[in-house]
Amino acid sequence: MRIIQYPHPTLRHVSKPLRRVDAEIHRIVREMFELMYAANGIGLAANQVDLPYRLFVLNLESDSAAPKQEFAFINPVLRSRHGMVEAEEGCLSLPSLYGDVRRPDRVVLNAFDLSGEEITMPLDGLFARAVQHEVDHLDGILFIDRLTSTGLLDAKPALIEFEEQFYGQRDRGEIPDDAAVAARLAELEQLRT
Ligand code: ZN
Repeated sequence: MRIIQYPHPTLRHVSKPLRRVDAEIHRIVREMFELMYAANGIGLAANQVDLPYRLFVLNLESDSAAPKQEFAFINPVLRSRHGMVEAEEGCLSLPSLYGDVRRPDRVVLNAFDLSGEEITMPLDGLFARAVQHEVDHLDGILFIDRLTSTGLLDAKPALIEFEEQFYGQRDRGEIPDDAAVAARLAELEQLRT
């Protein structure tokens, strides 16, 4: 498992809900936490590790020694959005790129945890922002899609660099073509969604 970067096509995949939380999902979640900590991130969605599942992990302290701050959310749904605030965001799939994104300040998250229990959490501040960023991933949306036009202009040189790097890797055969990526995602989906 590894973190994929923009413009890998799996980052544009709209994931379907998981049918159940089994041992394999537990294993995937553990590995996602490890990757997230190694990259000093606070959140990581399944799309970002090339998996078509509606789940993400979160630890706002990005600290494996703070396991009480660890959350794994499965089949998340957001509702009751309120307020609007702008704040800077980054993403492990677009390393070293940051930009201001406007999002609702308060949301209610409905999801399942690793024991299959349904949870409802009213969230605000960084927690609300991080959860919205991660749910976006599951819908194939990246924070660069939510930048203002000037923000996007500022990000353009970095995006071109990411694209050149990606197509270089593809030319060298390090990343499968779009059809092969889609076929693999469809196969995984059939197993668990
Ligand atoms: Zn992200």
